Amino acid sequence: MGVQNETQTFVKTAHLVTILQLIHRQPGISRPELCKRTGLMPSTMHVAIVKLMADGLIVTQGMAASNGGRRANQYRLAPGIGCVGSISIRLNRMEAGVFDLSLQMLAREEIELSLATLGPETYTGQAVQLLERCMAQIRLPREKLLGVGVTLPGPVDTRTGVIQQISGAPKWRQFPMGERLRQALNCPIVTDKDVYAALVLLTQTGQIQYPGSCAYLSICEGIGSALMVNGQVYRGSNSLAGEIGHLPVRKDGIPCACGNTGCLELYCSDIGIVQQYNAQSSSKQTTVAQVLALAQGGDVTASRVISQAISYLVDTTATIIMTYDPQELVIFCTWLQNQRGLYFWMLDTLYAKSIFTQQRAARIRLLAEDPLNLSAAAALAVQQALEAAVVNPS
Ligand SMILES: [Zn+2]
Repeated sequence: MGVQNETQTFVKTAHLVTILQLIHRQPGISRPELCKRTGLMPSTMHVAIVKLMADGLIVTQGMAASNGGRRANQYRLAPGIGCVGSISIRLNRMEAGVFDLSLQMLAREEIELSLATLGPETYTGQAVQLLERCMAQIRLPREKLLGVGVTLPGPVDTRTGVIQQISGAPKWRQFPMGERLRQALNCPIVTDKDVYAALVLLTQTGQIQYPGSCAYLSICEGIGSALMVNGQVYRGSNSLAGEIGHLPVRKDGIPCACGNTGCLELYCSDIGIVQQYNAQSSSKQTTVAQVLALAQGGDVTASRVISQAISYLVDTTATIIMTYDPQELVIFCTWLQNQRGLYFWMLDTLYAKSIFTQQRAARIRLLAEDPLNLSAAAALAVQQALEAAVVNPS
């Protein structure tokens, strides 16, 4: 009986994928640690390791330090398995990258591009070109591209890659993004909403302390949120769960491209803050950093716009806490990222708001890094590539 048949008998594919994922996330992990983390018996782990090595997916990486007993083998992914592509589609820009399976970025390109004005076919053509430029940068042959992950600022059918809708971009409704990219790049494509993919990435990279009950709020050019329950992202029935940027915060608010009026995104996103400032001032600004600088310099209009944004952000975090009661709330916000003073003011306002939003209600944390979209898209592709490698080793 060959190794193939032996493992089919004893080790489920799902277990092989889990082992591969653990080795991918923690290069150098030892065999006892793998048993501990998976709950598999040492004999089953032995068969799994033999198969993964025979398939050329993992290699040994020396021996773990002994704590008295026999020194344990350590494993990492085999070098040269391939790379994944990553495309991050944002409201006002597109990013593309190539990553290795440990999520190290090898190449990156970015262009400013309005999703609302460009047709989706033209846009997809540009996405392919951008990714090909990344591959050319590192001279990556097409056959080494194991798959491409794509994140989008709206709900998408993850099974088919068909976009459901994106606010302000009606031409994208029902656009088969996954299929178009698959035809152009001739490799597997995996798509998801950006905030869902980001929350999974944060969990995989150990940045979520309480995956059992965690909420993520992302504020950049748009606003979205995601909820994780028992380690799984809660998507709702149409991947609409977490579309908090389009909850109205003002009854007398300005019209939003989504059809509603007074949506949160119009007052709190990067684009919204700039537009609010420009609507109330004779001087026109183009970035949220400029509005922040004006506020710090004593500009009354800029201060009013930023205060308003903070106030709506407090209401939003209170809504998340009181609706979902998460143990942890992780916030990414482009304009609060380097404004600790404003962030602490926001927290104090939140804690003082009601008996339900006091300090101990949820562990709130502000992320310090840049937007996660591109790495999150790569993580989607890595996950898919690992699954494919186990099911269909080359
Ligand atoms: Zn809206």
